[in-house]
Amino acid sequence: MSILLEVKNLRKYFKTPKGMLHAVDGVNMQIESGKTLGVVGESGCGKSTLGRLVLHLLDSSDGEVYYQGNNITHVNKKELKELRKNMQMIFQDPFSSLNPRKTVSQIIVEPLQIYKAYPSKKDMIKKVYELMDTVGLAKRLEYSYPHELDGGRRQRIGIARALALNPEFIVCDEPVSALDVSIQAQILNLMQDLQLERKLTYMFISHDLSVVKHVSDNICVMYLGTLVESCASKNLFKNPLHPYTKALLSAIPVPKINIEKKRILLKGEISSPINPKPGCRFAPRCLYAKDICTKKQPKLIEVEENHFVACHCLKENNKESM
Ligand code: SF4
Ligand code: MG
Repeated sequence: MSILLEVKNLRKYFKTPKGMLHAVDGVNMQIESGKTLGVVGESGCGKSTLGRLVLHLLDSSDGEVYYQGNNITHVNKKELKELRKNMQMIFQDPFSSLNPRKTVSQIIVEPLQIYKAYPSKKDMIKKVYELMDTVGLAKRLEYSYPHELDGGRRQRIGIARALALNPEFIVCDEPVSALDVSIQAQILNLMQDLQLERKLTYMFISHDLSVVKHVSDNICVMYLGTLVESCASKNLFKNPLHPYTKALLSAIPVPKINIEKKRILLKGEISSPINPKPGCRFAPRCLYAKDICTKKQPKLIEVEENHFVACHCLKENNKESM
């Protein structure tokens, strides 16, 4: 197993009038080369911030990021430009991330121009057509503007642009959330085909566990800036151990009508990420919270091979599955 990207104790705090907002608060994770790490959690849990930190679109407050074993936490502009070739992003809302005044081909050619990737204009245009073909955009759309196309095609432009410099690693931030369900499957299949063909590594961010399940090899579950559980995708669905993961899983609809599933409804207020209280962030909503949970923050611990959980009361809550 070769690790392409690793983050250690990564933090991002934002100053707000009410105090320090702990958006990402001590995250540790690894992404295997050629695999997909799903990052799942409710909106506002810090997953997009985490994706941006990894790509240096935001500066971290503390912690480290390693790419191919090299510490890339503090890089200068020139080094960052070099890194960006290998690390790209696909955004949630293709509409707002595409320049409305540019045509499809002008959008896709942009990274090639910035990086002077081709000496001749002819080669550059050839590459644009190649990229359009790769993502399933007909050549006749080259002079179209984003607003003339549907959401699926717009996301295909975003993917083509992300692929232009042949990256190894792509952060996909809710890439299908803005799309109709029927289009979602097409885009997810395209992304999976591209991953195989180009040996891409994905960090796939989503609030939707059923989407993450479909694409991920490993999954991290985030809650209010912290990781609460992380393991192989299959294992997470078979043997979830953290109370929050269990609640998330119970909310996924089951396709077979004769299977009954008890939904765990989360009550209680989500705690504030501003000046967070000591203890487990999930405590106000946790059915199993004990005294210690409000006093000490649980550490992410490996409870079985490659299965990490942050919970003080793991054994009591999972007698049958541990
Ligand atoms: Fe619940 Fe306590 Fe575990 Fe947090 S540490 S998830 S509050 S049991
Ligand atoms: Mg987000």
